[in-house]
Parts: sequence; structure tokens; C-alpha cells
Amino acid sequence: MAIDPKFEDTREVVEQHEGHTVWGPVDEPGQLGIHGTHVAVDFDICIGDGACLEDCPVDVFEWVDTPGHPESEIKPDPANESQCIDCMLCVDVCPVDAIDVDPGREGRL
Ligand code: SF4
Repeated sequence: MAIDPKFEDTREVVEQHEGHTVWGPVDEPGQLGIHGTHVAVDFDICIGDGACLEDCPVDVFEWVDTPGHPESEIKPDPANESQCIDCMLCVDVCPVDAIDVDPGREGRL
């Protein structure tokens, strides 16, 4: 299952984390929601493979510990999503399609 690119229509904002929005539902530690809006990472799909973090040319992602999550116990947090240059590398390399990048999404909210 890939991230839902229309998540802003189907989910609600539940919190702010490290300067970005978290879209629920969240029920820690097993359910963590989607982190980010312009650069959105579905933490419940992510397996912590790290390709996005390694390939991003402007260091948008930072590891965050997620102990107890069934898919992986580390996730790439889009902590610097405002730096994103929309190259789409992270979207292309993610093995489980957990990332969606849409620069227009912030403006539609
Ligand atoms: S689209 Fe490019 S610049 Fe933006 S987060 Fe992904 S890899 Fe980084």
C-alpha cells in the first residue's frame, strides 16, 4: 500500500512535530500517521530503509526513533521540508512508496 496523495482530504491534523504537521490518526507506538505536508512521509508504511535520507540533495530528512512501530523503529522525519527543491528523488527511491511530494499542497490547505 502506497501513501495516499490525497491525504489532506481524508485525514486531520493532529499535532505539530519539529516544525512540520502530523496527519492522523496517531496511536503510538503502533500508528504514527503522516509526517509533513509538502514532503509527506507515511510513517505507517515506511520500513526505515533510508534511501530518501541518503539521496536527498538538500538534507530534508532527519532520523527519528520510533520504538515499537511494527514496520521499523527509525523513520526519516521531513524536518527541513521547507528546503525541498522538488527533485522527486526521494519519491523515486522509496521501496514502499511511503513518500509523496507536492509543493502545491501547503497552499490548498
Ligand atoms: S523531492 Fe528531492 S529535495 Fe525534496 S525531499 Fe525529496 S529528495 Fe529532498
